[in-house]
Amino acid sequence: MSAVVLDGKALAAKTEQELSARVAKLKEQSGGQTPILATILVGGDPASATYVKMKGNACKRIGMDSLKVELPESTTTEQLLAEIDALNNNPSVHGILLQHPVPPQIDERACFDAIALEKDVDGVTCLGFGRMSMGEEAYGCATPKGIMRLLEAYEIPMSGKHAVVVGRSPILGKPMALMLLNANATVTICHSKTQNLPALIAQADIVVGAVGKPEFIKAEWIKDGAVVVDAGYHPGGVGDIELAPLADRAAAITPVPGGVGPMTINTLIYQSVDSGEKKING
Ligand code: NAP
Repeated sequence: MSAVVLDGKALAAKTEQELSARVAKLKEQSGGQTPILATILVGGDPASATYVKMKGNACKRIGMDSLKVELPESTTTEQLLAEIDALNNNPSVHGILLQHPVPPQIDERACFDAIALEKDVDGVTCLGFGRMSMGEEAYGCATPKGIMRLLEAYEIPMSGKHAVVVGRSPILGKPMALMLLNANATVTICHSKTQNLPALIAQADIVVGAVGKPEFIKAEWIKDGAVVVDAGYHPGGVGDIELAPLADRAAAITPVPGGVGPMTINTLIYQSVDSGEKKING
């Protein structure tokens, strides 16, 4: 059996065409207005700067504007909260992205939670998480929501399946688990204190690796015919799962790179366009 490749890059490119058309239509209807995503980068971390640049480029590709806010490494929580407040009150901004992680002196949770719900297109607020969990309207956290969109596009069955999510971070593992639960999967969440991880993973119909350690999840732990989602990305193009031996054993697999990564950015702009449409069309 050869695993189906869940091609996030291709799905993101296809979705960008649809989003470009929606932005063009919105512009036409509104006398030239486009959705605007504000991106906030605090400090000089090169990886974060690259991610923000990639997000700005994705906006450009679909004809949307982005507003770049760049703040020094020494920024305080109060200063960042003031920037977020200004963006919340700026009617031409439809989405706000605060690039994670922020420097250690900043209370990141307080800053995420200061983002207005209707502009939380990256899905990072506690309120948005709670609403999503309860099945109420809210933008999903971009990486797990991107994974759900990828699984749905390939019509991967989730209802009744046993999903094992390895990782419980606020922006990935935890919302991922809730999204799979809402799709009627039976979900096991694993973390650094989990005992007997290989035995739990061996039960999984769907495995999501969100650990942050290169090839930490071994191919031999995963049963034949499982759906394998690797959210990790590390230098050298490896993820959190040992993927190579699974190419002819898994039912489906997300490549690294080209699987989850492009869907994260795509979900951010997808949700920004949605927010812009709601605001501009009233
Ligand atoms: P994180 O905040 O560091 O969380 C890692 C999680 O893994 C934690 O919940 C931790 O458990 C768990 N973990 C650590 N060691 C473990 C072990 N030995 N056994 C089981 N679980 C263990 O990382 P993250 O932000 O969720 O990111 C996870 C991965 O996804 C990284 O590779 C990151 O690069 C990638 N990522 C990709 C995208 C994308 O767009 N493609 C976006 C975000 C993240 P505890 O909670 O107990 O500490």
